Amino acid sequence: MRSGFIAVAGRPNVGKSTLVNALCGGKVAIVSDKPQTTRRRIFGVANGEDWQLVLVDLPGVQRPRDALTTRMQSRVERELADSDAALMIVNGLEGIGPGDRFIAEALRKTSTPVIVAVNKVDKLTDAKLMEVLQATADLEVGDEIYPISAKKATGLEPLMDRLRDLLPEGPFYFDPSEESDQTEATLVAELIREQVLRRTFQEVPHAVEVMIDSIEKEREDLIRVTAFAWVETNSQKGILIGAQGKMIKAIGTAARKELQRELGMKVHLDLSVRVRKDWRGDDRALDRLGIE
Ligand code: GDP
Ligand code: MG
Repeated sequence: MRSGFIAVAGRPNVGKSTLVNALCGGKVAIVSDKPQTTRRRIFGVANGEDWQLVLVDLPGVQRPRDALTTRMQSRVERELADSDAALMIVNGLEGIGPGDRFIAEALRKTSTPVIVAVNKVDKLTDAKLMEVLQATADLEVGDEIYPISAKKATGLEPLMDRLRDLLPEGPFYFDPSEESDQTEATLVAELIREQVLRRTFQEVPHAVEVMIDSIEKEREDLIRVTAFAWVETNSQKGILIGAQGKMIKAIGTAARKELQRELGMKVHLDLSVRVRKDWRGDDRALDRLGIE
């Protein structure tokens, strides 16, 4: 049996979480077009008969700005050091930038094997693809480059074969029926936050965290979720609630549908907004949220 941990590294927004979901065959990590969507490390698990590949979906590598981003960054460094291999993802649409060079340099310094995927090729012309493949090769990290579309699930098979080859012999770390190491409460909170991210702009998505107060199983096929959306200021609270409560209602409805789909049961969702000043700079709050 072969098993191991693959750290998925890359700038914010390159498609790391989308890829982890695609390879694990389920929604493990939430996805949005806002940077800093992924705040915690998440394990996504892909299984075969005699192999188990644990993908470590990481926050995007970036320069820390507050207690939250400092924790995110140090998490990335620890996970890279602990993995059997690293998969670096670059954004084919945006091309190679200083952020990619910064990550490539960090990866070159480790003894961990590295492979590189150029994502979002569904949006690229052949000429543009050639250009970005060359620029990726110029990063001089990893020995092979895989063009993929995480969203359209193309090019994933050769990549997966290569990842499997990198696995050392070892036992399964997770029950093969599990797609992820997240608790139900974390997954529920994240699915709600994903709907907030879809509908908010500028600084608001970064200021929101969802905190689950309780999840009660009312019937075999019905759960009741009570959750708070934390924001940092009264004006953010106003934005999240919206005129006549329209925004929070839309978020709640969309989140409830998504939860029902993911959990396969009926969901009652009681979602309210609370101001929690400076939670991103508050180590105790971050501990409570499990962002370590
Ligand atoms: P992360 O920050 O690296 O985890 O990126 P996400 O997985 O959250 O994705 C960021 C954005 O890129 C989302 O809007 C995704 O839908 C989009 N995206 C991810 N993969 C692809 C892809 O293969 N093609 C296209 N066109 N968009 C993608
Ligand atoms: Mg992500």
